[in-house]
Amino acid sequence: MTEKQKFDTQVINDEILDKLCLKNRYAFINNNLTAILSQEEFNFLRKVQRFCLRFEKKNEITHRSDEDAYAWIPAFGAEGYITRQHAFKEVDLNYPEWGLTADLMRTIAIDSFDPQFSMAGGATVLAINPIHEHHENIPERLDALKELVTGKTPGAILITEPERGSDAVHMLTICEEQEDGSFILNGTKVFNTNAPKSKWVVAYATAEQNKGNMMAQFLINTEWEGWSCERVGIPWTPKVFIGKEKLENLRVPKEYVLGGIGKGREYLFEGLVPERIAIACGAISQCWGALSHAVIYANLRIQFQQEILKFQGVGFLLADLWAKTTNLTIGLLKFCESFDEKFIKFEGNIPRNISQAMVASASQFKYQATALSKEVCYESANLMGGAGLCDNTLMHDYMNISRIQEILGGSRQIQQYIMSLSLRTLFKMSVS
Ligand SMILES: Cc1cc2nc3c(=O)[nH]c(=O)nc-3n(C[C@H](O)[C@H](O)[C@H](O)COP(=O)(O)OP(=O)(O)OC[C@H]3O[C@@H](n4cnc5c(N)ncnc54)[C@H](O)[C@@H]3O)c2cc1C
Repeated sequence: MTEKQKFDTQVINDEILDKLCLKNRYAFINNNLTAILSQEEFNFLRKVQRFCLRFEKKNEITHRSDEDAYAWIPAFGAEGYITRQHAFKEVDLNYPEWGLTADLMRTIAIDSFDPQFSMAGGATVLAINPIHEHHENIPERLDALKELVTGKTPGAILITEPERGSDAVHMLTICEEQEDGSFILNGTKVFNTNAPKSKWVVAYATAEQNKGNMMAQFLINTEWEGWSCERVGIPWTPKVFIGKEKLENLRVPKEYVLGGIGKGREYLFEGLVPERIAIACGAISQCWGALSHAVIYANLRIQFQQEILKFQGVGFLLADLWAKTTNLTIGLLKFCESFDEKFIKFEGNIPRNISQAMVASASQFKYQATALSKEVCYESANLMGGAGLCDNTLMHDYMNISRIQEILGGSRQIQQYIMSLSLRTLFKMSVS
């Protein structure tokens, strides 16, 4: 098996299928990004790509939906490719390339390799970030952090509940503090990516139902008594395991209480800027993944004795999608670079006025990148005709995931709501 995908019934001819291999798709993306990226950024992108190419070939990865993408996590973890948002010095990893920009490079490379694997990896990062922020050098927390970052286990974040989705701060899951500083948790969570496969999860609960200011944040080992989890069926991403969990008198020892009562809401919001930027990075990577397929295909597919790219209906639409993708990539890259710059300058404590402005920017990017991804992935598949719908390529993954991303991390309407509130704040700041 070469780098091309396997399939049940081959629809696409041998030549085109060979040309759609990961190596060529990377080359298309790189030829677009080479002028935009710094040498350092480009080198890291190439490094992760080289690893993915070797991994795909060596393990004869087919990308079919019956593959166990979770089995790949240890190998990516060993290379430090689960996340590069931080250097992780506290667990002796000290990655040389780190920050939002490095993580954008990592995401672009891994998403083209396998979009469902990339999506599941994003959820692990949501568990990593709060532990990274609040480990307080407590050995139990550091051990969990290292296991997650190095791919010993995936992780999950438990915010959503069956009756509390967008309205996440009015939780129903209860936490009761005990005399020894431990907590007892009771409640139900749902839609938690990776939860059925994870050893470590980070969960939120509240001391009083519907009281956002009484929320707390916990690190949970899913082997503890009181944890049960069933898989939620999300047909669009068959390789990703999403959970519905019951927490029944689940005791969290005090070493694992990341934030006590009153800290939960602040910690939840603190994680939202990197989360939304990471979703935007995933979305723009999906745009490049879908475009690289469609551009290669349209340059090779012949109808009416011509490459279909030469028909205006195809070529002009691809040009439009390409321009939008390039421009948004430049915007996102600029945001990531400037975030990293400020993070280093202020030693991780970005001043409140700047971090407030970044909340709005993160919503803007999450909102626009996911909307663009939905358009680019669908339209790119559409331009491939039946070949864009069958299982011979990753196009169905792109279409499905691009539609899910608008819901995760705050739906489209919630981003619009946040942005409209920011416009009110800006008005008050600007108009005397
Ligand atoms: C595949 C998948 C993976 C997920 N992974 C995770 C995870 O890892 N961890 C986790 O905690 N959660 C996760 N979620 C949950 C996700 O964050 C929620 O689904 C999302 O926040 C929306 O909540 P909901 O589904 O209850 O919809 P609802 O909140 O019920 O929303 C329904 C509709 O109403 C709209 N709406 C709601 N309130 C308003 C408002 N004030 N103004 C305008 N419109 C509004 C919404 O935009 C939406 O269109 C995942 C969901 C999916 C589908």
